[in-house]
Amino acid sequence: MRKAEDTFLAVLSDGVIKLDGGSLFGQVPRVLWEQLLTPDRRNRVKLGLNCLLVWNDRHCVLIDTGVGSKEPDHLKDRYGLGTSQLARELRARGVAPAQVTAVVLTHLHFDHCGGCTRLNRSGVPVPAFPNATYYVQRAAWEEALNPNERSTASYHADDLMPLQKSGHLELLDGDTEVVPGVQVRVTHAHTQGHQAVLVTYGGERVLACGDLIPTPFHLRLPYIAAYDRCPEEVLAQKRALLEEAERNGWLLFFSHAPEECLGYVDRRNGERSFRPVAL
Ligand SMILES: [Zn+2]
Repeated sequence: MRKAEDTFLAVLSDGVIKLDGGSLFGQVPRVLWEQLLTPDRRNRVKLGLNCLLVWNDRHCVLIDTGVGSKEPDHLKDRYGLGTSQLARELRARGVAPAQVTAVVLTHLHFDHCGGCTRLNRSGVPVPAFPNATYYVQRAAWEEALNPNERSTASYHADDLMPLQKSGHLELLDGDTEVVPGVQVRVTHAHTQGHQAVLVTYGGERVLACGDLIPTPFHLRLPYIAAYDRCPEEVLAQKRALLEEAERNGWLLFFSHAPEECLGYVDRRNGERSFRPVAL
Protein backbone atom coordinates (compact mmCIF):
# COMPACT_ATOMS: atom_id res chain seq x y z
CA MET A 1 0.00 0.00 0.00
CA ARG A 2 1.25 3.48 -0.86
CA LYS A 3 2.15 5.89 1.91
CA ALA A 4 0.63 9.37 2.09
CA GLU A 5 3.99 11.08 1.55
CA ASP A 6 4.68 9.24 -1.74
CA THR A 7 5.07 11.20 -4.96
CA PHE A 8 4.61 9.69 -8.37
CA LEU A 9 2.92 10.05 -11.74
CA ALA A 10 1.63 7.01 -13.63
CA VAL A 11 -0.19 6.22 -16.84
CA LEU A 12 -2.93 3.63 -16.34
CA SER A 13 -4.96 1.75 -18.93
CA ASP A 14 -8.55 0.60 -18.58
CA GLY A 15 -8.15 -1.49 -21.74
CA VAL A 16 -9.18 -0.70 -25.29
CA ILE A 17 -12.18 0.63 -27.17
CA LYS A 18 -12.98 0.29 -30.87
CA LEU A 19 -14.54 3.30 -32.55
CA ASP A 20 -15.66 3.87 -36.11
CA GLY A 21 -12.63 5.25 -37.94
CA GLY A 22 -14.68 7.67 -40.00
CA SER A 23 -16.27 9.17 -36.90
CA LEU A 24 -12.91 9.46 -35.15
CA PHE A 25 -11.33 11.42 -37.99
CA GLY A 26 -14.33 13.49 -39.10
CA GLN A 27 -13.82 15.06 -42.52
CA VAL A 28 -10.49 13.32 -43.13
CA PRO A 29 -10.97 10.73 -45.90
CA ARG A 30 -10.34 7.08 -45.18
CA VAL A 31 -7.48 6.90 -47.71
CA LEU A 32 -5.56 9.16 -45.33
CA TRP A 33 -6.57 7.91 -41.87
CA GLU A 34 -6.19 4.23 -42.72
CA GLN A 35 -2.49 4.89 -43.17
CA LEU A 36 -2.41 5.77 -39.46
CA LEU A 37 -4.73 3.14 -38.00
CA THR A 38 -5.91 -0.01 -39.76
CA PRO A 39 -9.67 -0.54 -39.41
CA ASP A 40 -11.21 -3.95 -38.68
CA ARG A 41 -13.98 -5.58 -40.77
CA ARG A 42 -16.54 -3.32 -39.05
CA ASN A 43 -14.53 -0.17 -39.93
CA ARG A 44 -13.47 0.26 -36.31
CA VAL A 45 -10.03 1.32 -35.10
CA LYS A 46 -8.57 0.15 -31.81
CA LEU A 47 -7.85 2.90 -29.28
CA GLY A 48 -6.57 3.11 -25.73
CA LEU A 49 -8.58 4.02 -22.63
CA ASN A 50 -5.79 5.87 -20.87
CA CYS A 51 -5.98 7.49 -17.45
CA LEU A 52 -3.41 9.49 -15.52
CA LEU A 53 -2.65 9.06 -11.82
CA VAL A 54 -0.87 11.74 -9.81
CA TRP A 55 0.13 11.20 -6.20
CA ASN A 56 1.49 14.41 -4.86
CA ASP A 57 1.42 16.35 -1.61
CA ARG A 58 -0.86 13.74 0.04
CA HIS A 59 -3.38 13.96 -2.80
CA CYS A 60 -4.01 10.92 -4.96
CA VAL A 61 -5.65 12.23 -8.12
CA LEU A 62 -7.05 10.13 -10.94
CA ILE A 63 -7.75 11.89 -14.24
CA ASP A 64 -10.55 10.09 -16.10
CA THR A 65 -11.58 6.54 -15.27
CA GLY A 66 -12.07 4.66 -18.57
CA VAL A 67 -15.19 2.66 -19.39
CA GLY A 68 -15.31 0.64 -16.18
CA SER A 69 -17.03 -2.69 -15.70
CA LYS A 70 -20.78 -2.02 -15.97
CA GLU A 71 -21.31 -2.08 -19.73
CA PRO A 72 -23.93 -4.54 -21.02
CA ASP A 73 -22.89 -7.17 -23.56
CA HIS A 74 -24.34 -5.40 -26.60
CA LEU A 75 -22.20 -2.30 -25.89
CA LYS A 76 -19.14 -4.45 -25.18
CA ASP A 77 -19.65 -5.95 -28.62
CA ARG A 78 -20.34 -2.63 -30.36
CA TYR A 79 -17.23 -0.99 -28.91
CA GLY A 80 -14.96 -4.05 -28.76
CA LEU A 81 -14.54 -3.66 -25.00
CA GLY A 82 -12.59 -6.21 -22.99
CA THR A 83 -12.48 -6.53 -19.23
CA SER A 84 -11.96 -3.30 -17.30
CA GLN A 85 -8.33 -3.11 -16.14
CA LEU A 86 -8.27 0.05 -14.05
CA ALA A 87 -8.64 -1.58 -10.62
CA ARG A 88 -5.89 -4.08 -11.46
CA GLU A 89 -3.60 -1.32 -12.76
CA LEU A 90 -4.09 0.68 -9.55
CA ARG A 91 -3.38 -2.39 -7.44
CA ALA A 92 -0.20 -3.07 -9.42
CA ARG A 93 1.02 0.37 -8.32
CA GLY A 94 0.10 -0.25 -4.71
CA VAL A 95 -2.95 2.00 -4.74
CA ALA A 96 -6.24 0.89 -3.16
CA PRO A 97 -9.46 2.49 -4.50
CA ALA A 98 -10.10 3.97 -1.03
CA GLN A 99 -6.80 5.89 -1.26
CA VAL A 100 -7.88 7.93 -4.29
CA THR A 101 -8.77 11.37 -2.94
CA ALA A 102 -9.83 13.13 -6.15
CA VAL A 103 -11.16 12.07 -9.54
CA VAL A 104 -10.99 14.78 -12.20
CA LEU A 105 -13.19 14.14 -15.22
CA THR A 106 -12.38 15.83 -18.53
CA HIS A 107 -16.02 15.26 -19.50
CA LEU A 108 -18.79 12.74 -18.91
CA HIS A 109 -18.83 10.53 -22.00
CA PHE A 110 -19.07 6.93 -20.80
CA ASP A 111 -15.58 6.04 -22.05
CA HIS A 112 -14.10 8.64 -19.68
CA CYS A 113 -16.30 8.30 -16.60
CA GLY A 114 -17.69 4.73 -16.67
CA GLY A 115 -15.09 3.67 -14.13
CA CYS A 116 -16.33 6.26 -11.60
CA THR A 117 -18.91 3.75 -10.43
CA ARG A 118 -19.13 -0.01 -10.04
CA LEU A 119 -21.95 -2.41 -9.31
CA ASN A 120 -22.11 -3.59 -5.69
CA ARG A 121 -23.15 -7.13 -4.71
CA SER A 122 -26.80 -6.21 -5.15
CA GLY A 123 -26.15 -4.90 -8.66
CA VAL A 124 -26.57 -1.26 -7.59
CA PRO A 125 -24.10 1.28 -9.01
CA VAL A 126 -21.98 2.96 -6.30
CA PRO A 127 -18.89 5.20 -6.41
CA ALA A 128 -15.81 3.08 -7.21
CA PHE A 129 -13.56 5.42 -5.21
CA PRO A 130 -15.46 5.82 -1.94
CA ASN A 131 -13.26 8.55 -0.45
CA ALA A 132 -12.77 10.64 -3.57
CA THR A 133 -14.32 13.93 -4.55
CA TYR A 134 -15.33 13.82 -8.22
CA TYR A 135 -14.64 17.10 -10.06
CA VAL A 136 -16.39 18.07 -13.28
CA GLN A 137 -17.52 21.31 -14.87
CA ARG A 138 -21.12 22.28 -14.14
CA ALA A 139 -21.71 22.83 -17.90
CA ALA A 140 -20.56 19.26 -18.63
CA TRP A 141 -22.83 17.91 -15.90
CA GLU A 142 -25.82 19.83 -17.24
CA GLU A 143 -25.22 18.62 -20.79
CA ALA A 144 -24.90 15.01 -19.58
CA LEU A 145 -28.20 15.22 -17.72
CA ASN A 146 -29.97 16.92 -20.62
CA PRO A 147 -28.42 15.40 -23.74
CA ASN A 148 -29.78 16.07 -27.21
CA GLU A 149 -30.38 13.52 -29.95
CA ARG A 150 -26.72 13.61 -31.09
CA SER A 151 -25.16 13.14 -27.66
CA THR A 152 -27.58 10.95 -25.73
CA ALA A 153 -25.86 7.64 -26.58
CA SER A 154 -22.61 8.90 -25.04
CA TYR A 155 -24.03 9.46 -21.55
CA HIS A 156 -25.05 6.72 -19.11
CA ALA A 157 -27.02 7.63 -15.98
CA ASP A 158 -25.39 4.81 -13.96
CA ASP A 159 -22.02 6.55 -14.37
CA LEU A 160 -23.36 9.82 -13.04
CA MET A 161 -26.24 9.70 -10.61
CA PRO A 162 -24.48 7.66 -7.85
CA LEU A 163 -21.85 10.42 -7.66
CA GLN A 164 -24.46 13.05 -6.96
CA LYS A 165 -26.46 10.82 -4.65
CA SER A 166 -23.44 10.01 -2.49
CA GLY A 167 -22.55 13.70 -2.13
CA HIS A 168 -19.14 13.10 -3.70
CA LEU A 169 -19.67 15.34 -6.71
CA GLU A 170 -18.17 18.83 -6.93
CA LEU A 171 -19.26 20.97 -9.85
CA LEU A 172 -16.75 23.56 -11.11
CA ASP A 173 -17.45 26.87 -12.81
CA GLY A 174 -14.45 27.63 -15.00
CA ASP A 175 -10.67 27.20 -14.69
CA THR A 176 -9.79 25.98 -11.20
CA GLU A 177 -6.85 24.57 -9.25
CA VAL A 178 -8.58 21.47 -7.96
CA VAL A 179 -5.76 20.38 -5.66
CA PRO A 180 -2.26 21.90 -5.50
CA GLY A 181 -0.54 21.23 -8.84
CA VAL A 182 -3.69 20.03 -10.65
CA GLN A 183 -5.42 22.75 -12.61
CA VAL A 184 -8.37 22.37 -14.96
CA ARG A 185 -8.69 24.46 -18.12
CA VAL A 186 -12.13 24.69 -19.71
CA THR A 187 -12.09 24.18 -23.48
CA HIS A 188 -15.73 23.26 -24.24
CA ALA A 189 -16.12 22.27 -27.92
CA HIS A 190 -15.90 18.45 -27.68
CA THR A 191 -18.75 18.79 -25.18
CA GLN A 192 -20.02 21.72 -23.16
CA GLY A 193 -17.73 22.10 -20.17
CA HIS A 194 -15.02 19.80 -21.48
CA GLN A 195 -11.83 20.50 -19.54
CA ALA A 196 -8.17 19.75 -20.12
CA VAL A 197 -6.10 19.12 -16.99
CA LEU A 198 -2.69 20.67 -16.42
CA VAL A 199 -0.57 18.83 -13.87
CA THR A 200 2.61 20.22 -12.34
CA TYR A 201 4.88 17.37 -11.39
CA GLY A 202 8.44 18.07 -10.33
CA GLY A 203 9.84 20.33 -13.01
CA GLU A 204 7.39 19.11 -15.64
CA ARG A 205 3.94 20.20 -16.71
CA VAL A 206 1.70 17.56 -18.19
CA LEU A 207 -1.46 18.46 -20.09
CA ALA A 208 -4.14 15.76 -20.16
CA CYS A 209 -5.94 16.75 -23.36
CA GLY A 210 -9.12 14.72 -22.84
CA ASP A 211 -11.06 14.41 -26.08
CA LEU A 212 -10.02 17.85 -27.34
CA ILE A 213 -7.01 16.02 -28.82
CA PRO A 214 -7.86 12.35 -28.30
CA THR A 215 -4.78 10.82 -30.00
CA PRO A 216 -1.40 12.07 -31.25
CA PHE A 217 -2.85 11.78 -34.80
CA HIS A 218 -5.22 14.62 -33.88
CA LEU A 219 -2.25 16.97 -33.41
CA ARG A 220 -2.89 17.74 -37.10
CA LEU A 221 -5.26 20.66 -36.80
CA PRO A 222 -7.93 19.56 -39.33
CA TYR A 223 -8.14 16.07 -37.79
CA ILE A 224 -11.31 16.64 -35.76
CA ALA A 225 -13.72 13.90 -34.71
CA ALA A 226 -17.30 13.86 -35.95
CA TYR A 227 -18.34 13.31 -32.32
CA ASP A 228 -17.31 16.85 -31.42
CA ARG A 229 -20.11 19.22 -30.54
CA CYS A 230 -18.51 22.31 -32.16
CA PRO A 231 -15.74 21.37 -34.62
CA GLU A 232 -14.74 24.95 -35.46
CA GLU A 233 -14.33 25.71 -31.76
CA VAL A 234 -12.29 22.52 -31.32
CA LEU A 235 -10.00 23.82 -34.04
CA ALA A 236 -9.52 27.18 -32.31
CA GLN A 237 -9.02 25.65 -28.84
CA LYS A 238 -6.64 23.03 -30.16
CA ARG A 239 -4.56 25.60 -32.03
CA ALA A 240 -4.26 27.85 -28.96
CA LEU A 241 -3.50 25.04 -26.52
CA LEU A 242 -0.88 23.44 -28.78
CA GLU A 243 0.88 26.77 -29.24
CA GLU A 244 0.97 27.18 -25.46
CA ALA A 245 2.18 23.61 -24.97
CA GLU A 246 4.97 24.04 -27.52
CA ARG A 247 6.03 27.39 -26.12
CA ASN A 248 6.25 26.04 -22.57
CA GLY A 249 7.56 22.54 -23.31
CA TRP A 250 4.56 20.77 -21.77
CA LEU A 251 4.22 17.02 -21.96
CA LEU A 252 0.94 15.98 -23.57
CA PHE A 253 -1.18 13.04 -22.46
CA PHE A 254 -3.70 11.51 -24.88
CA SER A 255 -6.73 9.59 -23.58
CA HIS A 256 -7.21 7.44 -26.66
CA ALA A 257 -3.66 6.99 -27.97
CA PRO A 258 -3.50 3.36 -29.09
CA GLU A 259 0.10 2.96 -27.92
CA GLU A 260 2.41 5.61 -26.47
CA CYS A 261 0.16 8.19 -24.85
CA LEU A 262 2.63 10.64 -23.28
CA GLY A 263 5.12 12.83 -25.10
CA TYR A 264 6.31 16.18 -26.39
CA VAL A 265 5.26 18.03 -29.51
CA ASP A 266 8.13 18.70 -31.89
CA ARG A 267 8.02 20.77 -35.01
CA ARG A 268 9.79 19.68 -38.18
CA ASN A 269 9.48 21.62 -41.44
CA GLY A 270 6.46 23.44 -40.02
CA GLU A 271 4.63 20.17 -39.20
CA ARG A 272 3.93 19.04 -35.64
CA SER A 273 5.11 15.59 -34.66
CA PHE A 274 4.84 13.55 -31.52
CA ARG A 275 7.92 12.44 -29.56
CA PRO A 276 6.75 9.83 -27.06
CA VAL A 277 8.43 9.51 -23.68
CA ALA A 278 8.16 6.80 -21.06
CA LEU A 279 7.66 7.59 -17.38
ZN1 LIG B 1 -15.66 12.22 -25.43
